[in-house]
Amino acid sequence: MNSVLECTPEELAERFREQGIEPFRARQVAGWVFGRGVRAFEAMTDLAQPLRAELASGWRTTALEPEGELRSRDGTTKLLLRTEDGGRIETVIIQEDRRRTVCVSSQIGCSLDCPFCATGRLGLLRNLRTGEIVDQVLQARDVLAARGEHPTHMVFMGMGEPLLNLRHVIPALRILTHPGALAFSPGRITVSTAGVVPQMPVLGRAIRVRLAVSLHATTDEVRDRLVPLNQRFPIASLLEACRAYPLPPRGRISFEYTPIRDLNDSTEDATRLVRLVSGIRAHVNLIPLNEHPASSFERAKPERVDRFAGVLARARVPVTVRQSRGDDILAACGQLGASDPPLAAAAVGR
Ligand code: SAH
Repeated sequence: MNSVLECTPEELAERFREQGIEPFRARQVAGWVFGRGVRAFEAMTDLAQPLRAELASGWRTTALEPEGELRSRDGTTKLLLRTEDGGRIETVIIQEDRRRTVCVSSQIGCSLDCPFCATGRLGLLRNLRTGEIVDQVLQARDVLAARGEHPTHMVFMGMGEPLLNLRHVIPALRILTHPGALAFSPGRITVSTAGVVPQMPVLGRAIRVRLAVSLHATTDEVRDRLVPLNQRFPIASLLEACRAYPLPPRGRISFEYTPIRDLNDSTEDATRLVRLVSGIRAHVNLIPLNEHPASSFERAKPERVDRFAGVLARARVPVTVRQSRGDDILAACGQLGASDPPLAAAAVGR
């Protein structure tokens, strides 16, 4: 069946035309689904009854079934969603001051196998489709709307590697940013990659969103272990792709770096990091490691993290020491997909 969630308003108009439906109806349908979050054609009161019935029999407006919702002590919300073929994905809403950031998944599981990340343990089950990516944002928006809030930022930092699924991620970004669909500003969307170098220019050419790079190490020796993809695309090639990446005005590339005890948390690492990002408009995010039982890595000591951040700051590399959020509900970085059945069953239904 056709899905409204996979079409920009222009594409929808074209498909309607092919089906003998007046193309201008696309704008109305997109307004209901993307603008107002109305999914039932029956409720689209500016369409004649026979058209509503015709659309209902040939078009879908949903892709994911809500399965539950968990709320963390710090306000982070995790949505458990199910695909039609029974796949389970997770979407997180992070609240920080006035920001409401929707953290979107791009794949079910992940193929990259970074040993410190729980999602990697799952392996890759499959890519998410465009409609499944868009539906995550619509569902997060509904949850926020019920609290009188709305999403202000979006990050592709959930399950999966978005740059290995650009076939569906780019069309989803087009719909999310289209003025006649979700109208989200591309400057408030960040796509994060572990460093799929050949796909970075493909993304950059397609749409001007922000880029985050999960760097985590300053030598190939250490990065080969932490992010095995580095064995194919080593640090030098990754940074070259970063230098060539088309940034939005005043934009910076975020480098995600998780200080791990006695592995990558020394002042020598910090000095090397300064050198690596020199000439790149960079911002370094130091993210506390969320430890998990399957790995032996330990979070760096706070004083080491402070010293590391100090080296960057003195070299005028913008740096932020992040707090872990949502870890009590396994919604923090590197924890998605780790929820076992009892935890999912304890989720409050929606
Ligand atoms: N595959 C993409 C998108 C996922 S983003 C990427 O790697 O960028 C998820 C972020 O959380 C990445 O920066 C990842 O390196 C980080 N992460 C994974 N496991 C983590 C853990 N246990 N603690 C802290 N950060 C972790």
